[in-house]
Amino acid sequence: MSLTLSVDGERWRTHLRSVAASHPGLVPVAKGNGYGFTLARLARRAQWLHDLGLGVDTLAVGTYEELPEVASRFDGSLLVLTPWRPFGAALELDPKLARRVVHTVGRPGDVDALLAREPDARLVLERRTSMQRHGFLARDLWAAARTLAEAPRARVEGFAFHLPLAQGSHLGEVQRLMNDVVACQLPTRTIWVSHLTPAELDALRAAYPDYQIRPRIGTALWLGDRAALRASATVLDVHPVERGDSFGYRGRTAPKPGHLLVVSGGTAHGIGLEAPTGDSSIRARAATLARGGLDAVGFVRSPFSIDGKHRLFAEPPHMQASMLFLPHGAPVPEVGDEVDVRVRFTTTRFDRVQVS
Ligand SMILES: *Cc1c(COP(=O)(O)O)cnc(C)c1O
Repeated sequence: MSLTLSVDGERWRTHLRSVAASHPGLVPVAKGNGYGFTLARLARRAQWLHDLGLGVDTLAVGTYEELPEVASRFDGSLLVLTPWRPFGAALELDPKLARRVVHTVGRPGDVDALLAREPDARLVLERRTSMQRHGFLARDLWAAARTLAEAPRARVEGFAFHLPLAQGSHLGEVQRLMNDVVACQLPTRTIWVSHLTPAELDALRAAYPDYQIRPRIGTALWLGDRAALRASATVLDVHPVERGDSFGYRGRTAPKPGHLLVVSGGTAHGIGLEAPTGDSSIRARAATLARGGLDAVGFVRSPFSIDGKHRLFAEPPHMQASMLFLPHGAPVPEVGDEVDVRVRFTTTRFDRVQVS
């Protein structure tokens, strides 16, 4: 009945162990939908990696709201990636978690505001990168460092760089950012980074041997071995239709004989319309129409595949199920069969996650 993520457990765990073993200082990232697995499951896995002796003393979450979900399942430090602000969820932090939470700070005034509330706060200073998302510019970083030099109870746990997804090498940029960090003269030697390749991490460690480089990794950790993962939907109903039969919320009519399939997975799971592919010029549409192509009558490609082919939505996905149109001649699955779905794991809410 479900949209299911099936995980080849042995293969997945092997991959997780190998990423942890080859990335000293690894900080697993568990945020959002838990990369499809749920935050709770990722927190338990992070604890498991720690218990295997593979480091992992810190887990990163995206937001303050996500802390309760992971805090009871992972024992170590909890780095919050969203920068601390003097408003909102950051101020509602459970005092029981305060010692475990590492705040990310990225604006000059926020250092003072955080320390005014929590003089012994643990924090990392984020340096703005070419991403231009959050963080201090060099001058402000130095100012923050001066403030911190006079706040002996504050626990500065390092500097953070959030780099764009690799488009060529990051090393030139990281080198410039490191210059600012070194110039700050704060007595911390930890750099938290994202999106560096193993070779870039090695180069950075070689260039700054007295710094500890801690890679924050989500996608390449949890989703790095795609062959261990399968997303599938259940066929919930199958109805033969003739040309002209009407169906669906909008009373559309079948353009030719075939089958309507109702499969699990809809908008609530993050299943959406696929962008029309290929040539959408009038001439191309006319040609498809002449061939009796279904896209020309307004059917849109779905992420569900049957018999190795992506099938068309008969109408836009419903909240928890989708209607597909299967033209005459294609093999017709039975109620209860599983069909493959191509999903983005980071935007899909599965009903079930089955780890073998
Ligand atoms: C999400 C995130 C990461 C992890 O990104 P992946 O591409 O999933 O590895 C690292 N750092 C920050 C600040 C993030 O927001």
